[in-house]
Amino acid sequence: MRIAVVGAGWAGLAAAVRATQAGDDVTVFEAAAMPGGRARSDDAGDGATDNGQHILLGGYARTLDLMRTVGVDVEDALLRVPLRVMHADGSGFALPASGPRLLAAARALVSARGFGALDKLSAVAMTLAWQWRGFRCPPDMTVDQLLRRAPTARVRSRLIEPLCVAALNTPMAQASAEVFLAVMRDSLFGARDAADLLLPRRPLGHLLPLPAVAWLRTNGATVHLRRRVTALAIHDGAWQLACAPGPDDACDPGPPFDRVILATPATDAARLTRTLAPAWSAAAGALAHEPIVTIALTAPPRAWPAPMLALDANDIDAPAQFAFKLGEQPPGVDRVTLVVSAAGRWLERGNEGVATAAVAQYRRSFDIGPGEAVELASVRADKRATFRCTAGVVRPAMDILPGLRAAADWVAGPYPATLESAVTAGEAAARASGR
Ligand SMILES: Cc1cc2nc3c(=O)[nH]c(=O)nc-3n(C[C@H](O)[C@H](O)[C@H](O)COP(=O)(O)OP(=O)(O)OC[C@H]3O[C@@H](n4cnc5c(N)ncnc54)[C@H](O)[C@@H]3O)c2cc1C
Repeated sequence: MRIAVVGAGWAGLAAAVRATQAGDDVTVFEAAAMPGGRARSDDAGDGATDNGQHILLGGYARTLDLMRTVGVDVEDALLRVPLRVMHADGSGFALPASGPRLLAAARALVSARGFGALDKLSAVAMTLAWQWRGFRCPPDMTVDQLLRRAPTARVRSRLIEPLCVAALNTPMAQASAEVFLAVMRDSLFGARDAADLLLPRRPLGHLLPLPAVAWLRTNGATVHLRRRVTALAIHDGAWQLACAPGPDDACDPGPPFDRVILATPATDAARLTRTLAPAWSAAAGALAHEPIVTIALTAPPRAWPAPMLALDANDIDAPAQFAFKLGEQPPGVDRVTLVVSAAGRWLERGNEGVATAAVAQYRRSFDIGPGEAVELASVRADKRATFRCTAGVVRPAMDILPGLRAAADWVAGPYPATLESAVTAGEAAARASGR
């Protein structure tokens, strides 16, 4: 089977690796100079800059397995820590590493610091109610509606909101309760280490994209970088691709393909299928997107209770939900990354407006006085970071036409846009393409 994979993000790479393992003749076309899509590094060096701070979870079974397949030492590449939603003052929630999950979650809620007895009681009652209903709810229910009767305002803002925005990249007022509950079921209340945070110790390119490209080339697949596919057509059951020439060569996509896997963002997939499959293309083109802003700064050193901290975010003067201090720190200074998820409303103030508010928020959170310097190093806004995971959102199916499939984090599935969704979709498309 000759298979073309369009796009070398984590979904496309997953599809390409699994199809190659199954014995298919695979060619990957990637428009950018570096593989990895939204989870890529700028270059192949050890000090490369990433497209944005990413964290993985212990429950990302497909992703971790794929990383191992292409030769990545997962234990070395990722720092594993039990889930904690901790604040700079040490208050918050820390999931114990052992014990049955429901009990562990209940223990964590009961021993959470900075919450009163009523908060804890309401949080335990809320999770028992979720469990009782099998983590199910109507598909058009929002997370706000799910929380209507419980829990307390403090549990909502300091526990549920950071989890919801981090997982779904969508504000609670619009976020799908069905998807949120699926994430809770399979992480917080899933297998023993499913909720563990896996924090990258290396640039994203080294976690999967670069080793996967090397693995593909060693195992007989062809990978073209800087090669944008511009059109798709089918003649006598065989797929023909047109592509834009790279800087060094003309574009020859080679003989026709038996199957094509479209692993691009939704807007590109919609464009490539407009005349071939108008209804599917319209569904892909209709998905709304939500930005994420990543801010890097240096600040006076402070003791952190955990390498990833939750910040109190609001719509007025506090955009960032999480702060990260990872890896070795230079002497006398903290190198920090702030993440603003569901950043649509904030970007109306421009990159500079978001960054200024985030720096001021950081100063307040860590009690940094006017005489101490906080230097802004960079601001990256990814305007289409993920699809907006709203209540009742309709996501396009994997199957487009016979021999043409989509694989990406936005394809129909139970989870929000994550690396694991992308890899799972890529593997599913490769399996289906083999038939
Ligand atoms: C700032 C940020 C932070 C995030 N944080 C997390 C996190 O902490 N945890 C997590 O799990 N997920 C996170 N995500 C989401 C995660 O990055 C995505 O879910 C995942 O990378 C999507 O992979 P994909 O392969 O589906 O799509 P993409 O990564 O978008 O890959 C698509 C590829 O197709 C290529 N392409 C497009 N058009 C063409 C064409 N015509 N021809 C050839 N190639 C083409 C693109 O260049 C791209 O490389 C984050 C995303 C962002 C932006």
